[in-house]
Amino acid sequence: MTEPFSFPAAEPLRPLGLYLHIPFCKRKCLYCDFLSAPADQETIDRYVDAVCAQLSREAANYRTYQVETVFFGGGTPSLLLAGQLDRIMERIRSDYALSKQAEISLESNPGTLTADRLSGYRKAGINRLSIGLQSASDAELRELGRIHDYSAFLENYRQARRAGFDNINVDLMSALPGQTAKGWLDTLKRTADLEPEHISAYSLMIEEGTPFGERYGKRPDPAGFLPLPDEEEERLMYEQTECLLQEYGYRRYEISNYARPGFLCRHNVGYWTRRPYLGIGLGSASFVDNVRWKMTEDLTVYLDHYAPRAAVKGTPSSFDERLLYQEIQVLDKTEQMEEFLILGLRLRDGISLGEFRRQFQVGLREVYGPVLDRLLRQGLLLFYEDGKKMRLTKKGTDLSNYVLAQF
Ligand code: SF4
Repeated sequence: MTEPFSFPAAEPLRPLGLYLHIPFCKRKCLYCDFLSAPADQETIDRYVDAVCAQLSREAANYRTYQVETVFFGGGTPSLLLAGQLDRIMERIRSDYALSKQAEISLESNPGTLTADRLSGYRKAGINRLSIGLQSASDAELRELGRIHDYSAFLENYRQARRAGFDNINVDLMSALPGQTAKGWLDTLKRTADLEPEHISAYSLMIEEGTPFGERYGKRPDPAGFLPLPDEEEERLMYEQTECLLQEYGYRRYEISNYARPGFLCRHNVGYWTRRPYLGIGLGSASFVDNVRWKMTEDLTVYLDHYAPRAAVKGTPSSFDERLLYQEIQVLDKTEQMEEFLILGLRLRDGISLGEFRRQFQVGLREVYGPVLDRLLRQGLLLFYEDGKKMRLTKKGTDLSNYVLAQF
């Protein structure tokens, strides 16, 4: 066991989120444009070495931070063996100040989990498990190209409970090809009946460059055409979601996220409230001190830099560090204020006007007066708590894309 991090801090440590991207999947789903691909165990193992090396190299820059949340996202992080995950967690504990109360989440997919792996993850410190179900209908899962059916999910869900996971999220997706509002309601009910602590419910997005993107709009070709629900059906699905989940005791705390009391995803709330986070791994994004940056999406570049093969070891000086970064953006004050609103208003509780003034030394009304007045008149925004806070109304939440675009 490595010695835990210790650092005599003169100032209170600043909160930090850690995001670790695991870019591997068993097989590519037909709608997916995330940064992920199949890989063999040797590559995954080398990737784990690279992640550990990057964690250690970055650590010196984060001596004044305390890690409050860790999130393994993907891809399919549950392709990691328990021992590989443990190696990464040990590195985090040895090189960073990890809060004792840290939320440590791992995204997983049915079909990659076993009872042993789940209990290994628990032992490694994972205390929040997110399971990508997407749909409770086997026909819809097949249509999406998922690697699992509903019964595989159910078995993994029960194994996770038995392994001691008492904070589970289930990811669902609506507006699927061939899906009806009745079918979506069935998925929601079967999921809520299991009583997970958290449910994420997003609509399917058709992305260019995916097999679904190819098939989209191929009407009247009956073989290729993607039979997506029409607008009316989609609206029904949208309306059912909040109603039904509310009946089951979930609160919608963000546009697409529902939780039982006390089980908000702290890591994601950090994104929406612009808390600093450090991304580790291929294509990961970071946000610290109003700078956003993104790592390379080139696996060879990433691995050769952080986990060089024996043949190229000893030549790191020849490596051009700029290759590691795909984008770096320094936000000016206007961009910071826009982000504050666009991200903060996604939350049900919205934003604090006092916090806006504290961060930008100017009042919200002084900057956005005319826009606010218009959105208030349209019934899309409201002030509450004696005007100290502002959030979207029900109508504003339904039209959130429009409202957020105004900022
Ligand atoms: S499991 Fe997730 S990340 Fe992997 S291919 Fe499917 S949608 Fe993409």
